[in-house]
Amino acid sequence: MKLQLLLRSLCCASISAAAFAQTPQAGMLSADASAAEMNGFLRDLVRIDTRNPPGDESKVANYIAKVFQQQGIPYELLEPVPGRASLVARLKGDGSKKPVLLLAHEDVVPVDRAHWTVEPFGAETRDGVLYGRGASDDKSPLAAHLETMLQLHRSGKTLTRDVIFLAEASEEQDSAAGMHTIVERYWDKVACEFAINEGGAAEVKDGKVAYLGVATGEKMPRGVRLVAKGKSGHASVPVLDNAVTHLAQAVARLGTWETPVRLNETTTEFFSRLAGISTPADAKLFRSLNDPKTQMTLHKDMPQFYSMLHTSVVPTVLKAGFKSNVIPSEAEAQIDIRALPDENMPAFYAQMAKIIDDPSITIVPPDLTDAMPAAPASSLRTPMFEAFDAAQKDVLPEAITIPVMSTGATDSAFLRAKGVNAYGIRVPRTFAENEGVHGNNERIQLKYVAVYQRFVQAAVEKVAR
Ligand SMILES: [Zn+2]
Repeated sequence: MKLQLLLRSLCCASISAAAFAQTPQAGMLSADASAAEMNGFLRDLVRIDTRNPPGDESKVANYIAKVFQQQGIPYELLEPVPGRASLVARLKGDGSKKPVLLLAHEDVVPVDRAHWTVEPFGAETRDGVLYGRGASDDKSPLAAHLETMLQLHRSGKTLTRDVIFLAEASEEQDSAAGMHTIVERYWDKVACEFAINEGGAAEVKDGKVAYLGVATGEKMPRGVRLVAKGKSGHASVPVLDNAVTHLAQAVARLGTWETPVRLNETTTEFFSRLAGISTPADAKLFRSLNDPKTQMTLHKDMPQFYSMLHTSVVPTVLKAGFKSNVIPSEAEAQIDIRALPDENMPAFYAQMAKIIDDPSITIVPPDLTDAMPAAPASSLRTPMFEAFDAAQKDVLPEAITIPVMSTGATDSAFLRAKGVNAYGIRVPRTFAENEGVHGNNERIQLKYVAVYQRFVQAAVEKVAR
């Protein structure tokens, strides 16, 4: 995923993954044999270098094609850009309900080898932990979805929904090979009612998982540029329309602006369920979200939670001047804005202009030609969300399921814009393991990849019953 949602540690009821045991259905591999097969897929996938740029995702697509071919599952390569194929496969249901899509991406981000202590494409396993670029993001879900397809196929049962598998190219850096094109050009091959994608939250703490966070929506990147214009001249002659002064004032006003608190279905449910498993002090905070004092505490101590409740406005880049004795005629700032899913952006920019209150400042909105589309959050009142709840009770009975809103962006936005209820989930990992995502020594605990796979399979079986 492009940005990580880091949830604050929770100290609550939880259970280790080992407590779960599954009785395989006829035709399926046993839980152990299935996990071993999946670990083999994951190892192979990590060893295929799909750093983006350039991606070369066809190498992964061809690997998966071979597996599906051996198992007799029909598939198709989608290759809008040579060498950058996505792969789509489908298990036919009885057609009485609409399809469910399992989505994961094939590419990975680059590596800074000097800071790795293991070979980034070696897939070395130590004490049940597999190391390598993509181990978390996103090749473990990819391997788990592949295994889920094989297990469902082996079961011989006809589900009420088609199950579509999509291994997607070019997620880490958008291009003509990515989701934008897939949705536009190949929609009939992936059209679905529900989708499972990366995102969400699930922290392992002291060997336990307290909650499975299902992302139902995400904030939209909608940053702007501020441009200040004034007269240039010699700095020995002070002027009132100095562009640097005006820009600095505008940036300070925006940077300290407390944008309004707004709860939606997801965040209301998130904080309410979280309160139920939190310390009394935290629970009190989560039950008084509209209190300005609570907001100050969240802003200071739990900025991730603060961000879930606000459209955030964060100055990040300043550009002005070239010589200390010359007043520049123009100065520019970049403001990162992450909008709540239902934010009315023209109205929000108009409000920003009022906060800045300076006619010499122009707000330049972003070019949204290839940007993630604005999309409402996916609903919690769906058979898919119910299936997540029920699957979690099977796989991790002492944890809870909570809906979360990601503050970063994923390709689920493209699906939501097409009317799909798309949900983000992830393999449980520790805080330290989380830092390896897009960082150094990326790694994943194999036992939690198995938990993730069983969770996905159980959820699909339930929603397509
Ligand atoms: Zn990812």
